[in-house]
Amino acid sequence: MRTGLGLCAVVAAITCAPRASHAGDDAAAAITAAAPACPAERAHCFAIELHVAADDSGLVVTPAWVAAQLAEANRHFAAIDVGFELESVDALPASAAHIVTRRDRDRLGDGHLDRHRIEVFLIAKLEDVDNPGDPVFGVTWRQPRDDRKYVFVAANAFGRTLAHELGHVFGLPHSEYAISIMNKTPRDEPPMEQRTFADEEVALLRKGLTRIVREHSFRSRDPRGSRGPAATP
Ligand SMILES: [Zn+2]
Repeated sequence: MRTGLGLCAVVAAITCAPRASHAGDDAAAAITAAAPACPAERAHCFAIELHVAADDSGLVVTPAWVAAQLAEANRHFAAIDVGFELESVDALPASAAHIVTRRDRDRLGDGHLDRHRIEVFLIAKLEDVDNPGDPVFGVTWRQPRDDRKYVFVAANAFGRTLAHELGHVFGLPHSEYAISIMNKTPRDEPPMEQRTFADEEVALLRKGLTRIVREHSFRSRDPRGSRGPAATP
């Protein structure tokens, strides 16, 4: 692992040694500063731990890119009163920038999945493990040991890709609903700005949310504070 922008370039009150470079800290802090908060009125806010690949020119995505992905996720998940916010950002070494094999995906999950946060890895390039060489924009992967889900999004992804992958985290498969961001078939209608989760998928997302809350798969907090623990839907 490269020492300059190592796994310990962590912000948001997490400390580890050895101390990361100031460059890595600054880049991660800029992402944190630009990221939208979980909308205050949401019943559930899920914490995301973001791991961003770095190469010689710095992190592979910009703060604005991350902010746009989070804003899209928060917009689509309003349907089930769920929002997302960054809890931490750290830099991954250059060796993580290009994810090709199943083992690459497994290996990045190792050591990152024990804190009941939604772990999202932002990388430069992601390949289809069933068709090597074919690029994919995002994938929701399962840790082989305990089946826990985590997410990869490539730097060339659509703005809605994180929302799509979080749909998988909440239990959705791909679909053929024209309106749905879970439908991967290229199409002209409806226009992109009108696409979101189909009503049938919102019902499934609610079930997924109930399961996540019951099993404490991922940590959520209640942004309404005084209301106490967030209610199940
Ligand atoms: Zn998908």
